[in-house]
Amino acid sequence: MIQRTLSILKPDATDRNITGEINGMIEAAGFRIIAQKRVLITLDQARKFYEVHKERPFYDDLCAFLSSAPTVVQVLEKENAINDYRTLMGATNPASADEGTIRKRFAPSIDKNSVHGSDSPENAAIEIKFFFSETEIVG
Ligand code: ADP
Ligand code: MG
Repeated sequence: MIQRTLSILKPDATDRNITGEINGMIEAAGFRIIAQKRVLITLDQARKFYEVHKERPFYDDLCAFLSSAPTVVQVLEKENAINDYRTLMGATNPASADEGTIRKRFAPSIDKNSVHGSDSPENAAIEIKFFFSETEIVG
């Protein structure tokens, strides 16, 4: 089934000017970037976006990091996009990420792990709506 997923290239990626290299990996893996914009996420937006993690000890730091510098938010389209992008991203902790994944190649640490990807069809729909209107998505 063709699916859409929400991807974020996080502040550590824009900071190191590697968004193009990451997009190269995304496209080489067969995803189409059907919407994309550079966004400085506010702290309030970050807290809402990561609300599922609000009880976790790292929540405040996570939200501060996501709003600390520009991000690139994207909608990716592909057969099985949600799970396949999770695979391309690699494990949350880059120390455990497989060879050939974005996080293995680029992420310096678990709290600066370069990319976000939706984890379920339900969350993909919610997260895409969080950043994009229908007219901004050109499939
Ligand atoms: P993922 O981004 O792989 O879906 P989670 O949804 O579990 O991972 O966590 C959201 C983000 O919170 C992670 O990408 C990571 O940046 C951060 N995070 C997760 N676990 C930890 C942790 N133990 N310590 C610090 N930051 C963490
Ligand atoms: Mg997650």
